[in-house]
Amino acid sequence: MDFTGKVAVVTGGANGIGRAVSLGFARRGAKVVVVDWDAEAGAAVAAEIGEAAIFRAADVTRSADVQAYVQAALDAFGAIDCFHNNAGIEGRVAPTAEYDEAAFDAVMGVNVKGVFLGLRHVLPVMVRQGRGAVVNTASIAGLVGTAGMPAYVASKHAVIGLTKVAAGEVGPLGVRVNAICPGPIATRMVRDIAKQVSPNNPEGVEERYASSIPLRRYGTAEEVANLVLFLCSDLAGNVTGAQYVVDG
Ligand code: NAD
Repeated sequence: MDFTGKVAVVTGGANGIGRAVSLGFARRGAKVVVVDWDAEAGAAVAAEIGEAAIFRAADVTRSADVQAYVQAALDAFGAIDCFHNNAGIEGRVAPTAEYDEAAFDAVMGVNVKGVFLGLRHVLPVMVRQGRGAVVNTASIAGLVGTAGMPAYVASKHAVIGLTKVAAGEVGPLGVRVNAICPGPIATRMVRDIAKQVSPNNPEGVEERYASSIPLRRYGTAEEVANLVLFLCSDLAGNVTGAQYVVDG
């Protein structure tokens, strides 16, 4: 997986999975545009990479911010070969009958509209180039239901829908679009979900979840990054419109 001469844009690149993907692209020769609304952590990732990276602060739910990070990538590096459309939030843990409306809108805003806007503004660039690979971050919550997470589950099912539609549209134009479906990965997100489920014993929640996984542990952000890099690489040249599970 050699990305020398390639340009990668990673949303949610400041932390967790997106950070591991940003570092992974850079280690394999890519120029990287780290996009996040967490300016401090995002700038730190770009600084860790050095000259081959820039950080761009953006709220992925705002069209103007999305257009600005796309333009920043083109101004800095002249192309977008790989796009990890990854920023996401978990929302509240509560049953559908009690779920807060504002929390529902917030989750759909980042996880669905944010992913749509990324596709809306990156795909024209890739189509113009006649090449490119997109990986949208869905989740195993995009494949099955989880009680207590109606907005998150609905949003990740939607990401898989967006992936299939875009793949069909841009495949004939040389652009691939896939989705990944991570299971529990050791990042801030699962730690905060465990705290919501059991504020007094989040470790107990993690132990229970982990014991139900055949590999008996949470995945690492690096293990997810490996899949993203594979799907963005020429090794995956015949893979599009697919959803790949990485969940132990
Ligand atoms: P994380 O919270 O560590 O990282 C998410 C990043 O997205 C953060 O840096 C955050 O600042 C950024 N972000 C959130 N909203 C944003 C917005 N509106 N604009 C710009 N940036 C924004 O969590 P993570 O686990 O690395 O999550 C990354 C992706 O992986 C998410 O889409 C998440 O739903 C998905 N996912 C995570 C897990 C898991 O177990 N951790 C499992 C399946 C899917």
